[in-house]
Amino acid sequence: MSDCLFCKIIAGEIPSNKVYEDDLCYAFYDIDPQAPTHFLVIPKAHIQSVSDVTEETAPIVGHIFAVIAKLAGELGLESYRVVSNIGAQAGQSVFHLHFHVLSGRDMTWPPG
Ligand code: AMP
Ligand code: ZN
Repeated sequence: MSDCLFCKIIAGEIPSNKVYEDDLCYAFYDIDPQAPTHFLVIPKAHIQSVSDVTEETAPIVGHIFAVIAKLAGELGLESYRVVSNIGAQAGQSVFHLHFHVLSGRDMTWPPG
């Protein structure tokens, strides 16, 4: 999608601090970290949010979770939180599906 920030990051049109990349997904550090470790994992396909995941695209999401587990292991994250905001009221500001991975500090529940 030409006017999507994260599609531009995947295309290399906007710089990012890459953590990992494969055919299906891209991971990079959040520009405004909310924890000592905070990166995002996104599908290369433009999917707007969890609400737009279908049976056809669900395997990409499964793959992303396997990647999150692998990266967390490699980065030595013993405890972490995976978050995906859906819609503006829940805090979604970029409408390209992404999973936040946050770690390295005490976290509260319920989230704000
Ligand atoms: P959300 O608010 O859940 O849609 O998450 C979007 C995230 O993207 C926020 O945590 C932003 O800090 C992050 N973000 C926005 N622009 C960039 C960028 N150019 N590089 C890295 N992260 C970004
Ligand atoms: Zn996009």
